[in-house]
Amino acid sequence: MLSVEALKIRYGEVEAVRRVDLTVDSGEIIALVGANGAGKSSTLGAVAGLVPVASGKVIFDGVDITGLTPEAIARKGVALVPEGRRIFASLTVADNLRLGGAVHQPVAEARLREEEMLELFPILRRYYRVKGGNLSGGEQQMLAIARALMGKPRMILLDEPSLGLAPQLIDTVFDLIAELRRKGLTILLVEQNVALALEIADRAVVLANGEVVLSGTAKELASSDLVRQAYLGA
Ligand code: ATP
Repeated sequence: MLSVEALKIRYGEVEAVRRVDLTVDSGEIIALVGANGAGKSSTLGAVAGLVPVASGKVIFDGVDITGLTPEAIARKGVALVPEGRRIFASLTVADNLRLGGAVHQPVAEARLREEEMLELFPILRRYYRVKGGNLSGGEQQMLAIARALMGKPRMILLDEPSLGLAPQLIDTVFDLIAELRRKGLTILLVEQNVALALEIADRAVVLANGEVVLSGTAKELASSDLVRQAYLGA
């Protein structure tokens, strides 16, 4: 479904991503892991059209989407849930959801979709009229994911969904991610918590200094010496 080929990203003089190749098949969860500054968020940003690509290609459903605007990429069915759950803090849960659905669907359809989201995230129904900024970190993460799903994407790009969450909330968020996959969504997950990422992913790609250093099934990586020593504290 998604194929990133020889991706290179530069910020001025800084080569943030030197070469990333990865594929995500329909219905899979692929985890992109690695240390701070390895280039994970930049890679997601490039797929979503938010970060300029210096060279290489991003192909979605057989179509070259490299360099398209974020709006055009969203319309093709790819949604990004950015790091830090950027919800609108001063707007209610209801309005946050509506903004997510406002992009490209008729009102009646957006209503149906909103109802689906409230079924999937009961906590959002409970806090429907509450301002986003008053929700807990985990609830804001749910809202950020629900908002991204309002546009009916076929693939979501999740940037560090566990960041800053209490352990119990991390479990809730990851259960939800597993549930989304069961419903047929394809997921590219950036996660610094490698143990957690390998628990949920089908395959994983390890980045270091802007390059892929290892990739394989989650099972293979969980038993690899490199991963165990560098990322799992073994
Ligand atoms: P983190 O988990 O810390 O976000 P990451 O693996 O997602 O790390 P990136 O955020 O993609 O890594 O950053 C890769 C490199 O690019 C880092 O060295 C970072 O400092 C640099 N970088 C990221 N964004 C910019 C920017 N807008 N301008 C300049 N340098 C940047």
